[in-house]
Amino acid sequence: MRFLDADTFYRKTFGCKMYKASVSLDVTCPTRDGTKGTGGCRFCSPMGSGDFAASCKKSISSQIDEAIDRLSSKTGKDTGFIAYFQSFTSTYCDPSLLDSALEEAAAHPRVRAIAIGTRPDCLPEDIMDVLKRHASRIPVTVELGLQTSKEKTAEWFGRAFRNDVYQDAVRKLHEAGIEVTTHIIFGLKGECVDDMVGSVRFAVESGTDSLKFTCLYFLRGTPLEEDLKNGELASLSMEEYFGIVEEALREVPPGMPVLRITGDGPKSLLIAPLWTADKRKVINYIRKRFG
Ligand code: SF4
Repeated sequence: MRFLDADTFYRKTFGCKMYKASVSLDVTCPTRDGTKGTGGCRFCSPMGSGDFAASCKKSISSQIDEAIDRLSSKTGKDTGFIAYFQSFTSTYCDPSLLDSALEEAAAHPRVRAIAIGTRPDCLPEDIMDVLKRHASRIPVTVELGLQTSKEKTAEWFGRAFRNDVYQDAVRKLHEAGIEVTTHIIFGLKGECVDDMVGSVRFAVESGTDSLKFTCLYFLRGTPLEEDLKNGELASLSMEEYFGIVEEALREVPPGMPVLRITGDGPKSLLIAPLWTADKRKVINYIRKRFG
């Protein structure tokens, strides 16, 4: 690949193939519970972007077991797993809940690392203490949903934190020995290619350790469904999207992993773009264009 992809990066780091085992905690987001908004970010699914995770009502170890079982057709005995706290804002909780969840995840015999999806404005001192303690025993990465560095776009989708909060979070996490992955969405309302590429540049300049790109999904039950119906927004074609990715990759320093260049939205909710559901076609296209 013309960029450092997840598989190569994980093999280099852990010496084996790694998969993510998605798990969820019984948490919400400040943009859902009324603290900073209600209804969540405009594009976010009712599952808080954790549509592949098991029920948060189950213990963390059984969620990990279930995820490993689901992946069993692709994995072998030497495959390692990253326990991925994916849904909602996984640090928006009592520190003791996070502490015991991380303890349980780290104790799972197949888990080699932990990734925690959260917001940069949900990292208070007591949560940072918990993260720091665990990061001294197992690799911990925090995944921050920046999505864009254009404040106007962030206001439109209801992000409810400013760019400097993200920059402070990156600093704080690094001081605690924790790596940062930054999520960026291409195709948000009112953004030209320069804006999207600018978001990548901003994340790199802010010190992110790795990046994840995804295209804007229109999911059933989100406000974006209306935006699509009203013609306020259109979905990107595969060629348009990967044209933006190509430009964005120019901003990524050599050696910085791009852990995802496109995601796949939950098929049961996906309205557009439908090409993202054809995994085989997308993988072939990526290989041809970036291989
Ligand atoms: S995008 Fe993240 S912060 Fe926004 S509603 Fe979804 S899970 Fe919560």
